[in-house]
Amino acid sequence: MDTVSNTLERWLTGPRTGSLPAPSALPVPKLSFEFFPPKNERLEADLWACIRRLEPLAPRFVSVTYGAGGSTRSRTHDTVARLVRETALTPAAHLTCVGATRDEVDEVAREYWAAGVRHVVALRGDPPAGAERYEPHPGGYAQAEDLVRGLRRIGDFDISVGAYPETHPAANCADTDLDYLKRKIDAGANRAITQYFFDTDVYLRFLDRCLAAGIAVPIVPGIMPVGNFTSVKRFSAMCGASVPGWMEKLFEGLENDASTRGMVAATVAAEQVRILQANGVDEFHFYTLNKPDLTYAVAHILGARPAVTAA
Ligand SMILES: Cc1cc2nc3c(=O)[nH]c(=O)nc-3n(C[C@H](O)[C@H](O)[C@H](O)COP(=O)(O)OP(=O)(O)OC[C@H]3O[C@@H](n4cnc5c(N)ncnc54)[C@H](O)[C@@H]3O)c2cc1C
Repeated sequence: MDTVSNTLERWLTGPRTGSLPAPSALPVPKLSFEFFPPKNERLEADLWACIRRLEPLAPRFVSVTYGAGGSTRSRTHDTVARLVRETALTPAAHLTCVGATRDEVDEVAREYWAAGVRHVVALRGDPPAGAERYEPHPGGYAQAEDLVRGLRRIGDFDISVGAYPETHPAANCADTDLDYLKRKIDAGANRAITQYFFDTDVYLRFLDRCLAAGIAVPIVPGIMPVGNFTSVKRFSAMCGASVPGWMEKLFEGLENDASTRGMVAATVAAEQVRILQANGVDEFHFYTLNKPDLTYAVAHILGARPAVTAA
């Protein structure tokens, strides 16, 4: 009884916090979806089922990753080319500097331009498997900043670059990392897409720091709906994304319960995007991992609906 009356009293006399705005009160945000190129026919079928399910949500663009060390060069190209040929979607091709000369990278970019691809996600790339540190290829682009400049010489691409709200793991410090982000923008990038993060404050504080540094392009939050907590945790340790303790607690005991895990994952991602939306964020990039359901549900919560096509 005490507990109830204390709670009531607090509710009646304490500060009132507003609820999150109803999505219907806000414009539908701009969405983009990221896929990876498939390794075999079965995965290819999964990818295309994923693309077809998300396509009606009319994303602003969909991007296709480039395997570590350029290992998926032709698969990335084939997937992007098929997106151009068979869908109304705007594809963005990821491209990295690793393991290739400038001429080779330029050649890939020219092939994209010739295939009608106008958006490139320009990245430095990670060191190849087994290498401890990143070493630029002799005669290659050293950093993403150089790649952005190279792309600008080839065509009038829409260029996205990566950004790290929790600082790139190889950076000396957060301020130099931010300087390098600014240099990529000054070199001609149109937007940055962030590494995924789970703590919304981390991203909002990063936005403040970007603004203070004079960065004026959109910093699109990368959202990772967590289908498999164990593997996301392992991957996060490598890419420098922190996994808050509360999340660990939420997924505890669900290792063999995919259906509850999916519901929890949707709730976590929905809460994250709704808080960001309530803070004025109106663009989201989803790391789909070629699985559509969580992304579809979260996009729906954000207000996205399938576009109705004329009969
Ligand atoms: C949205 C997104 C998509 C991604 N897609 C892919 C993909 O498809 N394929 C893939 O292999 N990887 C991908 N990655 C991972 C990315 O390649 C790695 O995080 C890589 O280590 C850094 O790439 P970057 O373009 O952000 O690098 P950069 O911006 O070049 O920075 C990398 C590091 O070098 C430092 N640095 C930057 N410029 C300089 C300079 N001039 N001198 C000295 N140090 C410098 C930075 O502080 C940072 O620590 C993606 C990352 C993101 C955020």
